[in-house]
Amino acid sequence: MPVAGTPLARIGPNAILQLLAVLEARGGPRLCERVMSRAGIASLPDCSTMIDECIAVSLHHAVRAELSESAEDILREAGERTAAYILAHRIPPLAQRILKILPPPLSARLLSGAITRHAWTFAGSAGFRTLGPYGFELTRNPFAHGAVSDQALCGWHAAVFAGLYNALVSAAFDCTETSCIAQGDPSCRFELTRKYDKEQRQSDGVRRRLSAPFGNRQTGPTGSTRTSGLPRDIGTYDGT
Ligand SMILES: [Zn+2]
Repeated sequence: MPVAGTPLARIGPNAILQLLAVLEARGGPRLCERVMSRAGIASLPDCSTMIDECIAVSLHHAVRAELSESAEDILREAGERTAAYILAHRIPPLAQRILKILPPPLSARLLSGAITRHAWTFAGSAGFRTLGPYGFELTRNPFAHGAVSDQALCGWHAAVFAGLYNALVSAAFDCTETSCIAQGDPSCRFELTRKYDKEQRQSDGVRRRLSAPFGNRQTGPTGSTRTSGLPRDIGTYDGT
């Protein structure tokens, strides 16, 4: 059961401050007011300390409801800004320098440990654990609980993870949400991969498909042959 809205469910203020900054940049104060109204937020809470998680969850849901076309981009941009804020204000420069010069596998392990220790600031009441140095899992994620979608919704979290890994482990990391509570999965899971590896996997997949362009030739009951696989296989290549 979600615990959003319970008296003890609190989260870092960047969950709303960075999102409002993106809305302001894109649509000015009127867009902020429109989304806040949709979220039922009459006025901003005191953001000098942790805030009621319920306010952040409502604002994220309101962005999706009010701005469905651009909601994913907006939430990702807010996540990128949150990562930038954490780098500027929450991780000491010396620690950042050390992480950057260590071999990536080691800095990834150290960074994932640090993220876990501070998860309460951005995961709120969700359960949080690492899935190795390049993966994270949120159970009871209040930002996804209650939403129903055919795609993963937690782009804000993914962008926070990607921003931190790109800055401190190695450039060009992507973070993909591989399962999401909003899709009916038991938890929200995030996987960090180097963009090169991801592109290479996609390229390998395309190459495999194209290497057998005529699919499997099968002999029918009358001795005729038919070709299966070609339209479907080529059709799945989306050019990415
Ligand atoms: Zn999710």
